[in-house]
Amino acid sequence: MSVLEIKDLHVNVETDQGAKKILRGVDLTINEGEIHAVMGPNGSGKSTLAYTIAGHPKYHVEGGSILLDGVEVLDMSVDERARAGLFLAMQYPVEIPGVTNTNFLRTAKTAIEGEAPSIRHWIKDVRTAMDALRMDPSFAERNVNEGFSGGEKKRNEILQLELLKPKFAVLDETDSGLDVDALKIVSEGVNRAKANTGLGIVLITHYTRILRYIEPNFVHVFVNGRIAEQGGRELADRLEDEGYDRFLTGANVG
Ligand code: ADP
Ligand code: MG
Ligand code: MG
Repeated sequence: MSVLEIKDLHVNVETDQGAKKILRGVDLTINEGEIHAVMGPNGSGKSTLAYTIAGHPKYHVEGGSILLDGVEVLDMSVDERARAGLFLAMQYPVEIPGVTNTNFLRTAKTAIEGEAPSIRHWIKDVRTAMDALRMDPSFAERNVNEGFSGGEKKRNEILQLELLKPKFAVLDETDSGLDVDALKIVSEGVNRAKANTGLGIVLITHYTRILRYIEPNFVHVFVNGRIAEQGGRELADRLEDEGYDRFLTGANVG
């Protein structure tokens, strides 16, 4: 049974004006196979949490820890984190000019597994995954995310998720900008990953819409750099009705 434990995490971000404190004591425990929805207003630090888990160099941990099965993730390089089974689907996926999707995926898979996958199985796996995500086969030979629409980029993140088979994934607003059909396709991919590999998921979102397709075990309200409240899916419905106002009183906003 795998577990990802975030304990009293404090993080500063490097800005042009110097260090700015963003995360103020985040506690979150995700067990294998659990889906944790994280909802909160813009600027509350959700992406900062995602980047910190992934090991982005701009985010400096001032205190706390992130343990993957008891091992300190904060001591690991970005590559080591990926090999240990962590995955981040970025809010704004980056384009990688000059690198085809197939080559990128194969290189990543090889780095994570420690050996190259057999060509025959790999090509079949990529085709099957692209098929399931209703991606045109031509996307295999296109450069990573280059010229992809917003929705195509999000789908491509889920393609990586399905092929790289991490233990835990942070999905940062993977639902943003998707029409209903794409939202369903992406959600099915996430549900498949959970069913097939017992993936544990941190699902960062602004909207309850995606929670119609992906059933969360827990919902967390993220405000001003920390979790202000947690509950079940009824909490998400309440947020949709009431917004975040009642959590923002007294908070240091902006
Ligand atoms: P969210 O994802 O909840 O919208 P973010 O984590 O993106 O919030 O941002 C939290 C706060 O940190 C915001 O005020 C944002 O402007 C600031 N911030 C995050 N990353 C950077 C950065 N690289 N440079 C400057 N400010 C940043
Ligand atoms: Mg935002
Ligand atoms: Mg964000």
